[in-house]
Amino acid sequence: MTHMDEKLEPIYDEVVRRNPGEGEFHQAAREVLESLGPVLAKYPELGRKKIIERICEPERQIIFRVPWQDDRGEVQIQRGFRVEFNSAIGPYKGGLRFHPSVNLGIVKFLGFEQIFKNALTGMPIGGAKGGSDFDPKGRSDDEIMRFCQSFMTELYRHLGEHTDVPAGDIGVGGRELGFMFGQYKRITNRYESGVLTGKGVDWGGSLVRPEATGYGSTFFLQQMLKARKDSLEGKQVVVSGSGNVAIYTIEKVYQLGGKVIACSDSSGYIYDEHGIDLELLKQVKEVERLRVSEYVARQRRARFVAHGNIWSLPCQVAMPSATQNELTGKDAALLVKQGCIAVSEGANMPTTPEGVRVFLESGIAYGPAKAANAGGVATSALEMQQNASRDAWTFEQTEARLADIMVRIHQLVQETAEEFGAKGNYVVGANIAGFLRVAKAMVALGLI
Ligand code: NAP
Repeated sequence: MTHMDEKLEPIYDEVVRRNPGEGEFHQAAREVLESLGPVLAKYPELGRKKIIERICEPERQIIFRVPWQDDRGEVQIQRGFRVEFNSAIGPYKGGLRFHPSVNLGIVKFLGFEQIFKNALTGMPIGGAKGGSDFDPKGRSDDEIMRFCQSFMTELYRHLGEHTDVPAGDIGVGGRELGFMFGQYKRITNRYESGVLTGKGVDWGGSLVRPEATGYGSTFFLQQMLKARKDSLEGKQVVVSGSGNVAIYTIEKVYQLGGKVIACSDSSGYIYDEHGIDLELLKQVKEVERLRVSEYVARQRRARFVAHGNIWSLPCQVAMPSATQNELTGKDAALLVKQGCIAVSEGANMPTTPEGVRVFLESGIAYGPAKAANAGGVATSALEMQQNASRDAWTFEQTEARLADIMVRIHQLVQETAEEFGAKGNYVVGANIAGFLRVAKAMVALGLI
């Protein structure tokens, strides 16, 4: 852990005291607070107005029961969450995660991160996150539909295009969002397109939204490399995960001249020195929803390593795109030792604090999630714009907007780091730039 300003220590202690057992939330809060010492020194009124204390306390937390019936007629009970963290700069915005590991602490860490990420995009969106401990793996389409309908039957009353606008995350993609949007429409009798993002293009969705997080983190990587007078051309890249973010990261890396040699899921990783065959990967993961080992059954030159550590593979670029804390201090040290020069985080908080320290001390280009994966939510905001104007933009137009947003985020983060005496440190730059935008809005809106 790095040093925290002495004025901020008691604030962090209070976060820990009030949110017992929520380790991921403590971790996310600590990382942001560690960056804010120079901000308090420069803007003492933010301290007097207790902006940091206020930002660490969610505006609203909702926990609810989600009962549903499986295909055998058995009753199942899940827990649903929505943490509406901060709405100073716009309606709450952030994804829904369906995974058995979901609990209040995970949702809170994700919602907290989302506040600053959304601010970095420059769009008018506040921060939130939600989800359930429901495990979609192995469930039939009918079971998924019944669960989504029950989940939305409770959540709908808290949503609205001007109030709270969820999207997807782990375990929630186009299929799940479709079932949830259908139920929202049925209950409210309103075709309120702007209430959810990540919708299908035939029913109010935006082109490029499925690709946006992965494309965005690759655009961010491209900017980091450009700042070092380098490029992706010919680079060997390792991407963890094989879900939405990973797949479109791989696609954009190829388009920009890099080669992806490995990807994974929770069962292990696949390695192909000639480059992962993206079409086959999409068929296995997106269409047939199978385990990643199935790729190797169909592409014999590749290798599957059950429960292997993907970060042990030598590469020049690492793009963690699966889940939180998947890359440890040891992994980071090995990556750097084996020649890794850049890391761009598609997943949220994928690197442990020890790993982050290794990357920062090594001087490699390290793009933290808040900045690097902000392209997904930025494109969600573009979807909201299209919904509000009942318009649909072309793929090229939307992708150009996304690319431009990522360039601007990179520039903002880089300049802010420099302004606060931490040149090249994108963690400090992202935390301070995101925080300042929200903090100034909170001051303007008064004590609410
Ligand atoms: P997804 O489509 O559900 O894919 C998740 C991938 O990560 C799968 O390959 C999954 O493997 C793997 N994974 C999940 N939990 C894991 C665990 N505990 N251990 C090992 N592997 C695990 O989800 P996604 O939308 O790509 O999200 C991936 C990451 O990106 C998350 O951190 C999410 O918060 C972040 N993110 C997503 C978006 C977005 O627009 N979707 C935006 C910003 C950030 P299995 O299938 O085996 O579980």
